[in-house]
Amino acid sequence: MTTSTIEAPRTGDELMVLGVLRASINRIDARLLSLLAERAKIARDIGLAKRMTDRPVHDAGREQDHTKALCEAGERLGVPSQVIRDLFHVLARHSFSEQLQARVEATPRAIPNDSDGFRLVRMEPGRAQTVVQVGGAEIGGGLFEVIGGPCAVESEAQIHAAADHARACGVRIMRGGAFKPRTSPYDFQGHGLTGLHWLAEAAHSRGMAVVTEVLDPADAARVAEQADMLQVGARNMQNVPLLRACARTGKPVLLKRGPSASIREWLCAAEYILLAGNPNVVLCERGLRTFERETRNTLDLSSVAVLRELTHLPVIVDPSHAAGRHEIIAPLCRAAHAVGADGVIIEMHPCRDEAMCDRRQALSPGQLRSITSALQLAQAMRDG
Ligand code: PEP
Ligand code: MN
Repeated sequence: MTTSTIEAPRTGDELMVLGVLRASINRIDARLLSLLAERAKIARDIGLAKRMTDRPVHDAGREQDHTKALCEAGERLGVPSQVIRDLFHVLARHSFSEQLQARVEATPRAIPNDSDGFRLVRMEPGRAQTVVQVGGAEIGGGLFEVIGGPCAVESEAQIHAAADHARACGVRIMRGGAFKPRTSPYDFQGHGLTGLHWLAEAAHSRGMAVVTEVLDPADAARVAEQADMLQVGARNMQNVPLLRACARTGKPVLLKRGPSASIREWLCAAEYILLAGNPNVVLCERGLRTFERETRNTLDLSSVAVLRELTHLPVIVDPSHAAGRHEIIAPLCRAAHAVGADGVIIEMHPCRDEAMCDRRQALSPGQLRSITSALQLAQAMRDG
């Protein structure tokens, strides 16, 4: 027998009452739904509070006590315990998952061992290589840039003589250390801002740009007033305050690889500069500290090839500080060109026997000239 067979025909009034009652139920259900949403929100906050106080999400004792109290209150209101139990079992499960979700979202994502730590500098499919403008030169634009000049600015006369030779060799960016990071505190430390002033005048008056090292974050802004590019040296690659101070000047930054830094650490250091709002970073491979004693450092040219895959930033090579002696700088420059670097930075002294710094690796002006000629030829052949 079906219900329809026992139902008496309804009057219009009865149907109206049913409609009113259903509307009331609907209103209660709507209120229940919004209460459920509010309850879920509170459950998420409870999840965060438990995380902060290091408590587990699941608290069996509290759940039991709470259900018991609800059942007792329900009985008084005429709601059977089983209904309360069933209902609150479902609600507890929902609350449990909300709490877990809140914890997951609030936990900082650990940086996995991939490119997340250097997301601004990493290469993305279809992204063009970055080209960094330094004075009238462009690093990363397809030409092979030869940056040259002495290790240190020693005197006004020395830097003008060096600038003459550099210009004659076609150098467009001149190097020279005014603040020198020396191993021994008794060695020549550079002439500081005075030296930088001599360098800037010597280079700029001959149409060359200037790159020079910054050692102290407090000097970055003053160095940037005269230099066209700031160098962060190998010893300071992970000096975060220095990276940020150099970045904030807005000048391009030449970031040397630390003597024991992995490529990823180096890229993370570059990330600090980009994150501070300065996209103009050039990476410089300058050799690693290894067991080898025939060279000052071991030039890791494979890093250039790896960086081509990992980053859009230009990469240059410093064979001077890698080799530590002038005799093998020419072949290392050719190797840097062959592996796809965007340029080299090399040390040249107008009178190398008198160099106050890194004498053993200083090129004579004649050696610099033959290197730049060979590289021009290699570049012409590469361009076809
Ligand atoms: C330099 O270029 O003057 C220098 C000190 O190099 P590095 O930081 O690579 O040792
Ligand atoms: Mn040097």
